[in-house]
Amino acid sequence: MRAHFGSPRTSQRVTPISGRTAVAANHSKGVPSSATNGDVEKHVPKTQACPPDDPHSGEFVEAIRDCQDPQKMMFLRWGNRPEEVVSEIERCAQIFVPPTPGSKSFQELSLPTGLEPCGAPAKLCSEIISAISEYVKVQPDELLICAAAVLASWFPDCAEVAPYLWITGPLGSGKTKLLKLLWCLCRRGLLVGDVRAGSLYQIVDAWNPTLLVDELDFSNSTARAELLRLLRSGSVPGTPTIRNGKRYSIYGLKAFSSRQSPDDAALASRGLIISMSPTACETPALDNFAMRALERKFQSRMCRLRLRYHAAVKKQHALPMDLEGLSPRMKQIARALAAPLLGDRELTAKLIAALRDQDEQASIERSLEPEWLVVTDLMTDCHEGLERGRPISEIFVGGIASSINQRLKFQGEDIRLSAKKVGLTLKSLGLRTESLGRTGRGLRLTSALKLKIHQIAARLGIDRRTIAPMTALETGYGGVPCALCKKFKLTGGLRFIALKAPMPRRRPASDRRELLKVVDNPRQQRGAPKKEE
Ligand SMILES: [Zn+2]
Repeated sequence: MRAHFGSPRTSQRVTPISGRTAVAANHSKGVPSSATNGDVEKHVPKTQACPPDDPHSGEFVEAIRDCQDPQKMMFLRWGNRPEEVVSEIERCAQIFVPPTPGSKSFQELSLPTGLEPCGAPAKLCSEIISAISEYVKVQPDELLICAAAVLASWFPDCAEVAPYLWITGPLGSGKTKLLKLLWCLCRRGLLVGDVRAGSLYQIVDAWNPTLLVDELDFSNSTARAELLRLLRSGSVPGTPTIRNGKRYSIYGLKAFSSRQSPDDAALASRGLIISMSPTACETPALDNFAMRALERKFQSRMCRLRLRYHAAVKKQHALPMDLEGLSPRMKQIARALAAPLLGDRELTAKLIAALRDQDEQASIERSLEPEWLVVTDLMTDCHEGLERGRPISEIFVGGIASSINQRLKFQGEDIRLSAKKVGLTLKSLGLRTESLGRTGRGLRLTSALKLKIHQIAARLGIDRRTIAPMTALETGYGGVPCALCKKFKLTGGLRFIALKAPMPRRRPASDRRELLKVVDNPRQQRGAPKKEE
């Protein structure tokens, strides 16, 4: 079925421009520029930007190319009324217009020229995988992540986060080519080579594109600072960034290519790694002509996909999923990427397995973040001495730093945390230190504080497996039970057994001597296990 934008000319292939002329002229809100009242032009300033969607009234807007003149941009209005193409939209006493054909910003965006039949999301996902693998060689699980990210880029407003893709690999591994492919496939792809460009914030804010940054140089401190700003406010909706006194919304899916993944674990954990390596396989060139052909082939179908499945994807996102064991951040990413697959069992299962692999890798990176190091240490302190019935009651900030640094040294890591850094990290986690007499500042491990530490651990994805010694991981026995670990589901699949208090028993002197030789494990002296958790 071809797109029909309210035009009476149903017998011919209906394209956006025919609908625009037919509908917009009769619609009070959608006034084409040629028919715009001069008074309106005089009194209401025009803004070159895509009007924001209005979910309350059910009115949504897509930016598209004018199919009769691809150098011009138009707006496709949809949702609570038949789809129509207009050249202006008035909203909140503001008139939104597309940029002029001479505008650089519009020419950089990948856009649909109309609406074409899209097919089921799972089928489209397979087609995206085929299109990408024709040009670049990517591991199958990472290829599926790329395809899911392409689909998700068309539904950013249905998710609670917009995932990032980190495309890494040496020179000649096809990173730029993959970014170009994403440009052809993603919603409003915007490929840039310089993240420092001042106008970038304006373009991103105006058009909500899928930002694709090529060859990001992490060693460049200016680029790094810009990237941090982009990332901090760009992955969660409703958190604008302030730059030069102005608010910019830069929420949306993004992809970055660089030689290596970011050394900052916090940045890396916001996204998924697509690692590429040079290949001897011959692949077709992806020049401008081929890119435009792919844009034409996919964009109009993807646009139809958004219109047709928007409500279903939003509903799917809210459905419970089996994401047990994933970190909280990866759970959000998994929901955002899986929702557009609309419950396709095979694809969803493969995607979650691929994300689980990524999460395990990310947890190794995360383990060197100050917050993670500090909370891991506090979780150890919460459970220290429980078996002997003598839990720790106070810990000093300096003691935490010293314990963390010993562990880092043992692991062969070259980073260290000062007591001051530990203090700042505790503060950032909402854990207030207090004076513990003349010996220094620290924490009193009260029941309330232990509860808070367990809460934070659950948020950071730290469980009893994280703090368990190697013997516990081998035997599956984690120690005595902790009600808080059980409450926050932090047992990590280990067994916890309550132990009986040792009963003093009188034995013959010869027997006692024998016992001291044999029993080197104090747990054996404390009697048999009583109860399994
Ligand atoms: Zn616990």
